[in-house]
Amino acid sequence: MKTVLSKVTLFLIAAVLVISSLGINTASAAGNPFKDVSSSDEEILYLYNRGTIKGISDTMFGPKQAVTREQAATLIGRALNLDADKRKTSFPDVNSDRYSSGYIQTAYEKGIITGGSDGKFRPQDTMTRGEMAFLLSRAFNYQKTGHVYFTDIKTNNNSGSLYTAVNKIATAGVSNGTGKGTYSPSSKLIREEFAIFLARALNSSFRVTYKNVAFADLNVTVNNLNVRKGAGTGFASIGKLNAGAPFRVYGYNGSWAYGISGNMTGYVSTAYLGKAVPVSANNRFITLDPGHGGNDPGAVGNGLRESDINLDVSKRIEAKLKAKGIKVYMTRTTDVFHSLSARVDKGVVSGSNAFLSIHTNAATPAASGSETFYSASVGNDSKQLATFVQNRLYKAMDHQNRGVKNYGFQVIRTNPLPAALVELGFITNKSDASKLATATYKDRAATAIALGIEDYYNWKAKN
Ligand SMILES: [Zn+2]
Repeated sequence: MKTVLSKVTLFLIAAVLVISSLGINTASAAGNPFKDVSSSDEEILYLYNRGTIKGISDTMFGPKQAVTREQAATLIGRALNLDADKRKTSFPDVNSDRYSSGYIQTAYEKGIITGGSDGKFRPQDTMTRGEMAFLLSRAFNYQKTGHVYFTDIKTNNNSGSLYTAVNKIATAGVSNGTGKGTYSPSSKLIREEFAIFLARALNSSFRVTYKNVAFADLNVTVNNLNVRKGAGTGFASIGKLNAGAPFRVYGYNGSWAYGISGNMTGYVSTAYLGKAVPVSANNRFITLDPGHGGNDPGAVGNGLRESDINLDVSKRIEAKLKAKGIKVYMTRTTDVFHSLSARVDKGVVSGSNAFLSIHTNAATPAASGSETFYSASVGNDSKQLATFVQNRLYKAMDHQNRGVKNYGFQVIRTNPLPAALVELGFITNKSDASKLATATYKDRAATAIALGIEDYYNWKAKN
């Protein structure tokens, strides 16, 4: 007991020491000697109070003054406690007697700063916002990139590009641009901007969430559209999309759009993208995919074959949907085998705008009830479709509600359409199987699923 207590005490002492050495002070008027800094400029006051940044005089901070490259290197060096000893540098235009020479040389040796192609550092030049992105991403070793796009920076995923540097600092929460989807990489960096960048890098409580304002949800208008690695036909294709596939645009690069569809992220030509068509009464069109078939019976139990139940129930759903004026495409109408990828392709090529795969479950005899799956990687519509179907189905079947689940089955994970996979019940459970053997319950399941699909389209028409 005694050791435990002393460990706790030591931990508390250590925690206090860490917090005070980080210098996290609340920005109070007492900590603000500057006439040109408001008490709400917390980032500036945070850096001042932790000794990283000084004013241009005892009472002035100079928030609108430009930051030179030499000053930026010095401030970053101070923030990271780099070796400050004045010495000979690798740059002909930075003499060893310069106040900044130690910081510049250390930062250079650590790969945080580089000179120009002429080998000079240009210490008196004003730092740009673009240069600051390189400086910060290297100084804080940011590696992660995300779906970041600014309309004034061309996407270029090379590791040394401006785009990658800005992407890294935006993903890290250090910048969210200059408003309206721009970053302004050529703008001169001023002291207050520098303080905001640096404070966010040093202290997570100042960080921001990058929001892409360029994003739009469009649809592919042709079949076999290449998704490419870069903005041009010279870049390799990473896959193809068919008409109707959704494409979430994160940004544009000339006549190319950069975005996501299903599990693909890349570029497509904007000539083949259109506005997402609102789903109205006359374009309700779903693919039904009766699982298994042919030499693949699926699960077998209690004298039943899954492939037969799936097809029977699917045909009933088809009839009920058609009676409601909802178009249906069936991936199979007889006892034949199709591969999983062929099922997805057929559904997309048909021009339908949703996909539902129908299956029957198998497990130990005790497991019973229905469940419906969606793949979270492909957007919210799939989850909605799964939820509407499941909420109707389990009630109609008078059995356990096993819920709506996120799982990456191939026909839903790789599907560019909103897609769900329903498990009607357990062929291996006596009670479920006895229901699935009767026309009454197969019809009840079909009625429920058709209503769930109708619920989905009604929701879609409003969203
Ligand atoms: Zn199955």
